Amino acid sequence: MNTFEQIYFLIGILSLLVGVGVAFTFVLPVPSQRVKAQSPIYGRLFLVTLWFAFLGICLQPLGFPLASAATLNLCVLLAMYMLYLTVLKRYGQVLTHKQIAMIILHLVFCEALSLYFYLGNNQLLIREMLVSICVLIPLGLTLRLIYQNIPDNRGGDEMIFIVVSLTTIGVVFGVPFYRMWLEPGEPVGTEVAFVAIFMLCLLFMLGFPASLMQSLFIRLSTQAYIDALTGAKNRHYLYRESVRMLAHAQRHEQHFSVVVCDIDFFKKVNDQHGHPAGDEALKQFAHIISDLLRSGDTLVRMGGEEFLIVLPNADIQQASTMAQRLCDEVRDAEIKVENTTLKLTASFGVASLNADDTIFDGIRQADEALYRAKASGRDQVKRAQS
Ligand code: GH3
Ligand code: MG
Ligand code: MG
Repeated sequence: MNTFEQIYFLIGILSLLVGVGVAFTFVLPVPSQRVKAQSPIYGRLFLVTLWFAFLGICLQPLGFPLASAATLNLCVLLAMYMLYLTVLKRYGQVLTHKQIAMIILHLVFCEALSLYFYLGNNQLLIREMLVSICVLIPLGLTLRLIYQNIPDNRGGDEMIFIVVSLTTIGVVFGVPFYRMWLEPGEPVGTEVAFVAIFMLCLLFMLGFPASLMQSLFIRLSTQAYIDALTGAKNRHYLYRESVRMLAHAQRHEQHFSVVVCDIDFFKKVNDQHGHPAGDEALKQFAHIISDLLRSGDTLVRMGGEEFLIVLPNADIQQASTMAQRLCDEVRDAEIKVENTTLKLTASFGVASLNADDTIFDGIRQADEALYRAKASGRDQVKRAQS
């Protein structure tokens, strides 16, 4: 293979990789938020501009030094800004007009300088140093953005972006080292540039989908434990978390109580005002309850108009006081649905768990107390008989 054939071969390989990477971004799940949904667009542009950067490198040995000088630095810098924008949009943030102006100014400045050094004696070393310094700005911005967002996000999402950014920095610092191995004036070898750009594309193609998938997984696993109508937790959550909560209480020798509550004569609400009004009433009922709970307490919709309140670190007395407060609050609340104001009451059963009880033992005892509250005329709290 002669030099030309080798260069065309490398361009072909990179085109294939970038093509697959771009196509892949189209089949990835699109984030639901409008700004976040734009991140794959910038991800595609990142890959495409990297491809152009490699083309810029190849133009030199192919006999187009001016075209190479004109495109190389610009494309490398543009690619790094595309990486920054991909991360920015992933976090749902937007660019201000001032930031856009600064980026354009930076691109124009870098391009003007690199052309200046090309036309004045073709100072290759200075041009290469210039692009290394210039890309530090978008890379620094990207790293700062990731660092700022780490507390809000969990897991490998940031790790992947950090790997990409660190690799990019490696490329930047690799250039001066690599230069030391070359004869003065000798252009950067297309093979080395190819390996660097190929690795960067590959890392991005692994990291970006993994980051999107992880967000999707977090969103789905959160939704899977939440009741869509009321926003309370559902039974799946209870089954998953109760074992852990009980073990924690036992380890720390804390009390653990549960309250079961059921809206009184809820069927009448549906009969008199219709099912949609009933739904709205259920929603508002759940909000009244959850607004009064402490941060460690959990409201679970067990089904229909029946809820469970898990109260870690509360004894039977504290749980009964809380249940009475909830009962009073529900009675006093005005529930506004479809131009009418409803009044609701609910009945409550309270139970405290013994050390070897499961959550189901607690629920069974609280249910029995609820049954007595209903039988005694509703709108009241009863404790389990221990
Ligand atoms: P009690 O005081 O004995 O609890 O009387 P009740 O009418 O509340 O009890 P019952 O179990 O007979 O009726 C519960 C009603 O709750 C029946 C059902 O139509 C209604 N319901 C259950 N889930 C939903 C829901 O998601 N939306 C609406 N609108 N109604 C629901
Ligand atoms: Mg009921
Ligand atoms: Mg019921």
